Formats: sequence, C-alpha cells, structure tokens
Amino acid sequence: MAIESINSSYPIEFPHAEDVEKIAQLIHANQESGLTEQEVQKRIKEYGLNSYKAQKQKSIFLVLVDQFKSPIVLLLVVAATLSFLFEHWLEGFSIVGVLFITAALGFFMELQARRSMNALKEMDVSVSKVFRDNTVIEIPSERIVPGDILLVEAGDIVPADGRLFELNQFEADESALTGESLPVTKKLETLEKNSGIADQVNMIFKGTAIVKGNAKAIITGTGLHTELGKITSLVETAEQTSTPLEKKLQGLTKKLMWITSGFALIFIVTGAIQGKDIYLIVETALALAVAAIPEGLPIVATIALTYGMLRMAKKNVLIKRLAAVETLGGINTIFTDKTGTLTENKIEVSNLTIFDETISVEQNKISTDDNKAIIDKLLLISTLCNNAVADDSGNDKKQLGDPIEIALLQFVAANKIDLAEINEQYPRVAEEAFSSETKLMGTLHKTDNGNFVAAKGAVEVLIEKCTAFCKGDTIEKLTEKEKNIFLEKSEEIQAQGTRVLAFAFKEDNSIPTDNFLEDLTFAGFIGFLDPPRMEVVGALQSCRDAGIKVIMITGDHPATALNIAEKIKLSDKENIVINGKELEDNPPENNLFDATVFARVDPKQKLDMVTLYQKRGDIVAMTGDGINDAPALKKADIGIAMGLRGTQVAKETAEIVLKDDSFISIVSAIEQGRAIFQNIKRFLVYLLSCNLSEIFIVFTLGLLNFSFSILPLQILFLNLVTDIFPALALGLGKGNELTMKNPPRNPAEAIVVKKDWINIIVYAFFMALPIMLVSWYCSSYLNYEPAICNNITFFSLALTQLWHVLNLSSRKVSFIKNEVTRNAFVWYALILCIIIMAVFYLVPSLKAIIGLQTLDTTMWLIIVGTSFAPVVLIQLFKRMFKIID
Ligand code: ATP
Repeated sequence: MAIESINSSYPIEFPHAEDVEKIAQLIHANQESGLTEQEVQKRIKEYGLNSYKAQKQKSIFLVLVDQFKSPIVLLLVVAATLSFLFEHWLEGFSIVGVLFITAALGFFMELQARRSMNALKEMDVSVSKVFRDNTVIEIPSERIVPGDILLVEAGDIVPADGRLFELNQFEADESALTGESLPVTKKLETLEKNSGIADQVNMIFKGTAIVKGNAKAIITGTGLHTELGKITSLVETAEQTSTPLEKKLQGLTKKLMWITSGFALIFIVTGAIQGKDIYLIVETALALAVAAIPEGLPIVATIALTYGMLRMAKKNVLIKRLAAVETLGGINTIFTDKTGTLTENKIEVSNLTIFDETISVEQNKISTDDNKAIIDKLLLISTLCNNAVADDSGNDKKQLGDPIEIALLQFVAANKIDLAEINEQYPRVAEEAFSSETKLMGTLHKTDNGNFVAAKGAVEVLIEKCTAFCKGDTIEKLTEKEKNIFLEKSEEIQAQGTRVLAFAFKEDNSIPTDNFLEDLTFAGFIGFLDPPRMEVVGALQSCRDAGIKVIMITGDHPATALNIAEKIKLSDKENIVINGKELEDNPPENNLFDATVFARVDPKQKLDMVTLYQKRGDIVAMTGDGINDAPALKKADIGIAMGLRGTQVAKETAEIVLKDDSFISIVSAIEQGRAIFQNIKRFLVYLLSCNLSEIFIVFTLGLLNFSFSILPLQILFLNLVTDIFPALALGLGKGNELTMKNPPRNPAEAIVVKKDWINIIVYAFFMALPIMLVSWYCSSYLNYEPAICNNITFFSLALTQLWHVLNLSSRKVSFIKNEVTRNAFVWYALILCIIIMAVFYLVPSLKAIIGLQTLDTTMWLIIVGTSFAPVVLIQLFKRMFKIID
C-alpha cells in the first residue's frame, strides 16, 4: 500500500518496535549532543521540510472559471445575445467586452484576497525546542529533521513523529489522530511490531497535544512521513467555508436581485405600454439589473477583511479566522489575565522572606550576608525546581521557559551559584509538573546521602504540604501559629503588588517517587516585581468609552491582583475583587457581574465565568496562555492567546494570537475590527445609494416619457468605473475617532440596518434630483438635442457618484478632515476614474461605444455645477435634520 512505500524511504519502519539505542544508531541521532547544523542541512535536502500542504488551493484556472458563473455575467450574456439578435453589433461586442472586464476584475480581486490570506497564514509559524550542537534551541517546526532530539512539554503540539527516550509524568491527548478523548500515559518500553497507533505509547505523533509533563524524543518521521501526514495526504482538499459576514452579504445580494428583477419587470411593462423601442427597454432593464446587484460584494468584503487583518498583524495581532474580525467589533466584555498583558512581564526578584524577616534584593543582589544557610537553600530549590533555560553569559543570550523561572535562574546565577554544577550534583529523578490547578511544582533528586525534594508554589497551597519550617539554622515544627505568621507576611508583601512564590524542601533517603510532595520543610518565600504597563491606563479608558467592560482574571493572589488593578485604574470606581475560593461556595450572581478582578481562579473557573457572562448576553473575549485555558478560549466569543507566553495548545485554540502579549494590542484589535466593519458598511451604503440613484433617474425619465435616458452601456460604465473603485477605496479606510466612542454593535444584527436604508434612500434621492431637474431644463428650456441631454445626465451622474464618497463620513466629524478624506485610496480612486472618463471622451472609438458627443464649455459648466449640488444638498440635509448619519 502507499503508506508502506512512504515509510520505507525512512531508515526505520517500525520505531515503536525497536529499542532506542538501535533507533539512534539507524538514524544517526545523538541523544547527548543532538545533530550538527551541517547534518541538519544535509537531512533537509534528503527528507525535505517538515511540512505539507494541509489545504490544496483552488487552481488559478478554476478561480478564473468561477468568475463566469456569477449572475451578473449571466445577465450580460443575455444582454449581449439580445444585441446580436437585434443586430446591434457594436453594442453586442461592447457588452462582451464588459463581461470580460467584470470577470477580470473579480479574478484579480480574488487573487488579491488569496495573497493576503496566504501572507497571514505564513505569519502563523510554530516553533519547537530541539537539542542541536549541544544546546537547546528554538527553531521553526518546519525545519525539524529525522534524527533531531525534540524536547516537548505540557502545552506543546507535537511537531513531528518521534520515539520517546526520556519522560516525566508524560501524557498526550491524541484525539486528533486516534479519536480517543482520554489522554494517553506515555512509557518508554519497546513494543510489539503490530501495535496499533493508539497503543504505541512509546511514540509521540505530529498534531497531538501534550497535556502533562515533559519528554525527549528522537524524531523518526517528518512532514508527509508522519501518521498525521499520511491521513492528510489522503484527504488533502478541505472546502473553505464562508464566514457569517460573507453569508450575510450573499443573502443581501440575493434579496437585492429579487428587488431589482421586480423593478426591471415594471420598467419593461410600462415601457412596452408606452410603445417604446422594446430592444432599448430590455437592454436598459438588464443594465439596471447589473447595476443594482452588488455582485462583487462578498469578495470586496474579504479584501477589506484581509487587508484589515494584515494591518493588525503589523500591530502584533494575528487573526486566525476571518470571521473573528466581525465578532471583535461586538465585544463588550474582556477577561484579561495579568502577567505580561497588564504588566510588563519583566519579572525580577525583589525580596526574600525567611520566617518573619524580609530581605530586599536589588538587581538580583541580596542585601545581607546573614541567614546564609536558609538563603542557600532557597537558591538551591530555585535551581533544581526549575525547567527554564537562562544563559546570560556571552553575547548569545538564551532564555527559554516560564518567565518566573527564568527570573529565578538569573537570581541564582547573580549570586555566584554554578547552575550546571548543582544540576550535576543533584540529578533529577522525578517531577511533579506545575499546573494552574495545583499551583505547585516539585522535583525529586538523587544526592550522595539519599534524596532531595525541591518544591515551590503559591504560599497558601505549599504551606499546607509542610510540617516543619526553617528558623535560623534550625528546623522546627510548623504549627498554626507560624503558618499564620507566614501567611500574614506574604499577604503584606502581595498587597504591594509583589508576586510571591513559596519554597520548601525535604532531605531523606526513603522518599517514594510518586507522592513526594508531603511532609516538607518550609524554607521561605521570594517576592517578584513585575511593574504594570502604564500605557494600559489609556487603553482601559478607551474601553470604557467604547462600552467595553474589562475584568482581570488571574491565578495570582487577590492582594497582588488588586494592587496592580489600582495602579492601572482598571475600574473608575473601587475595584471589586472576588477570590476563586468564593466562587466555589456559590456566591450571589449579581456580585459576579460587579467584580472587576477575579483572583486565584483556576482554568475551570475561567470557563464558568465566560459561560455566566455569555448567558446574560455578553459578547466575551478571554485571554489565556496555558493548556488548561483551551476550553475557556474556545467557549469565549473571541479566544485570545498570548504569543510570547502562550502554549501551542492555547495558540491553536484561540482566534487571535497577540505577538507581544499586550493588552494594548487587544484594544487596537477591537478598534480595527470595528473599523473594518464600518468600512464594509460604508462601502455598501455608497454602492447601493449610487445604484439606487441610477434606478431613480432611469425610471423617472422613462415614466415621464422623456426623449432621452441613460443608455445601457453607459449604465454599465457607471457601474464598473464610477462606483466600484471609490467603493473599494472606502472598504480600506482606517476608521475614525468615533470608532471607540460608540457602544459595541450586536453581531447578530444585519449589516445594512434600517438606519442605513434611510441613508441610502436619502442619498439616492438627493443625487438624482438635481440631475433630473437639470436634464429637464436642458431639454425643455435650452432645447438641447436628446443626445446632448443624455450626455449631460450621464456625466453629471458619473461625477456626482465620484464626489458622493465625501458624503460617507459621519456628520459628527469634520467634513474636511475625516476618515474618508484621510484615506489616500479614495483620492487615487477618484483620479483613476477621472482619467478613465477622459480617455473615453477623447478616444473616438471609445466615445462612440458609450454614445458620447462633443460638449461645449457651457455644457461642461452645467455638468460640473450639477455634480456638486448633491454634496451640498446632502450635507445641508444631514446637518439640519440629523435623521441621517
Ligand atoms: P497571571 O494572571 O498573573 O498571568 P496566572 O493566572 O497565569 O497569573 P498561574 O500561572 O496559574 O497564574 O499561577 C498561579 C499561581 O501558581 C501563582 O500565583 C504562583 O503562586 C504559582 N506559580 C506560578 N508559576 C509557578 C511555577 N512555575 N512553579 C510553581 N508555582 C508557580
């Protein structure tokens, strides 16, 4: 079978059935030092990159073909056929030309949208930790090769298949591959050849998530040569589904098609009754139909979305799903965590507390030489109970892992302790990994005299695991009295905004390896300073202005959380803090909606809060970084993962990844989301009002039996030139100063609401009115020929539509300086349209196609004057009556 032949090109066919030494030998891997860079280059050439195309894109040819399937093209085909039947050859060919231009426009727009989407996808690269050239480094997962030594830990998504050779309480969620929802506990023993994937407990597989512990593995399969790759290559094409916005736009287009068909029918019937040229009536009706269907709508919306997303990406916000942009604008509650999001994440040790004495630390230097024995213990535990890598020596600074653990390593190193030497003296035999639920971490080490347990965690949790404590050089029994002293002391320090970690240990020679975090000796605690990001204060104010409530939700202590909340002015009133413990005891619901800080909450409670707020109708954004945050991130309307601190699982689950972890980026994402939505709306209002004005004019001139009207090809010209480019430009605007002053919109609401329809009708009426009056005047009083009257009507309307973009800014902002006038694309579009019009007017063959005459200066003055009238009228109307925006 195909799968066998894939595997046979790899050195090892059944890695789960070979022992590790044999695998290392076959694949030339080195568990001690990893591959060399030279070897990696060779292997990339040999095996290719660790990637595969998950989704095969529609071929360019198919994109082109699809353009000819639209209703507009169909209408144009009917119009062209009619022209040929009636032997209007020039018009027939011109319509065919229009048809190709329409298809080409659609084609290029779709390619543009696709390019942006691909650019966005490329930004979403995952990284993995590998051991190469004797050091642990992070590399793009794509560059992993067979034989690499991979390091994985809880929260990671496995980047390639590998055989495990070292592990610590290691569990993987393999549901993505096997469908089994319970995590698999991994083991090291060699298995039978015929074990199924679900039973291969000594392997890790690409695409699965690590839920507990950490491990090392030799990579045995990459890219398509992984278990996931095999499945993926079999089901390569996944249909791209439409976003809710696109669906709404498709619905709107359909509705408009029906309305237009109704209009067209009335137009044909009345024309026929009046005894007009049936060919002209039908062609005009078809042209009107083409004008009224905003066919390019969904694709233009996609362009507006992707363009906005690219702009957000530059501001450190990576949006993973188009649909998220729409929801972003509707958010009214943000649950945000504290560290790194509201604080700088520049964690540094600021003090040590041993029993009732607090010793200050500055730039990692301890301010006293006393209590050496306990301080050495604290430094020892900090080194051992630690999974970070922090090598600040030399130019090549390396920092990997939990920021608080990195801070500890830096503290230890600054106090002249040789990390490598300690790790060698105390080899680790077991680890109780840190989790947000237990709020503890412990490690068990072998020593010359027996065993050593190092533990750290939240004070109130760790102290419950202790039965003794260090006092001076002696170890005493821990009673309730001392416990309270420690707790009070830590409370006091935490109330100053300092994050506190407690440390404990045990020296023994008979410690069981599975439950070693009992009967510990409390050594003391270390306070860490992480200053708040002061720029958050402004962002919080804009959230208040925008009707968005911000709630801090953290695993940290209530006192630390409150202090930070006050410093950043989280609430403009007094902050209400709720402790996770209170949540367990069924607190009154009202109180929960008043809280601005939830402290000491675990991930399950985060999920509960999201659910509770959603139940009352809120649109909730939730930030998260840990693996256990995934359910809350998924449940929230918008899940936001932290790019720097976040686990791969969190990033994979979330809709948005913040590259800089900062709260400011969340607010700017919401602002952008709102602006994009406004743009799409503005684009629609513009397009629909222009089209409606055409319908008004053609209808009125027709019904009143004027001797001229706008010709079918002229309508197509207006539709393709004068409104499409400015409309597109409006779709790319940057939003205005009101964007964050209005309350959030309801995402369930239609895109074009009643208020917008009123706008559209008023706009169209005022655009059509002066033009019709002038046409009537030209024909009845100036006695211009019908062809000249037609040209005056056509040019006035074309220019009116161009200037109409200026009406699209809100009346609440300046007419001169607003988001439309500031949008450079708008000006480019206007210039482009004027050039195209001039070309049509000046090139005789083009002039003939759309029935243009040579006009004199008076006529041009009439046209230009008329074209400005609607702007003046609409602005006056807007500001006097205030019923339209
Ligand atoms: P924040 O909102 O500040 O980011 P968090 O919600 O991420 O906090 P957790 O990381 O879940 O909080 O930590 C909860 C508590 O667990 C901390 O207050 C601390 O006491 C303890 N803790 C944090 N990191 C570690 C660690 N690496 N080892 C042991 N204990 C830790």
